[in-house]
Amino acid sequence: MCKEPRNKRTPRNRQRFNALISADTSGNGCHIFNRVGANGYGLFTKIDETTGTTKTVSSHRFAYEQKHGLIPPGMSVLHKCDVRACCNERHLRLADAAENSADMKRKNRQSRFADRKPRVPLTETERATIVSRYKAGETVYRIAKDVGRNYVHVRSIVRTSLKKEQARIAEPVPPIRSAPAGGAAQYLEAA
Ligand SMILES: [Zn+2]
Repeated sequence: MCKEPRNKRTPRNRQRFNALISADTSGNGCHIFNRVGANGYGLFTKIDETTGTTKTVSSHRFAYEQKHGLIPPGMSVLHKCDVRACCNERHLRLADAAENSADMKRKNRQSRFADRKPRVPLTETERATIVSRYKAGETVYRIAKDVGRNYVHVRSIVRTSLKKEQARIAEPVPPIRSAPAGGAAQYLEAA
């Protein structure tokens, strides 16, 4: 039996791609791609029909190219619907670099990284302040805001400290040796 030669026109990628889109349940017509990367964009493994090599591409870029042909170099494909995993080609539009950056600013995405402060290790004094303020009844949110630390970080400091304290309380008390019959005098002599 002979293996069927690969046909360049066989829409294998397209079929595989379509199989990974889930039916729209949001009501706004988005076509949600089922494989999503850490940044929220759909990721599709494209197979080169002639060489058989694979390449991972953004699902929305792939969808755009299926409809409109190759994306010109340096151009971006933006979501009109703001749903990153969406690959409904009617929700996509082409944009140049300047437009893309303006769009990012509008969606306030850039600041998430640009404003990120480097993590400075916590001092013992800071740690003690956080814990004592929490014990005095302040909320983690309030403390985190005041000391300029991340909420999750402050919460974990409070939790760890409280756990340590609890472990200390729960530590078994060493058994007290009872004085042998005959009274304390005999006990002292025996020791
Ligand atoms: Zn959409």
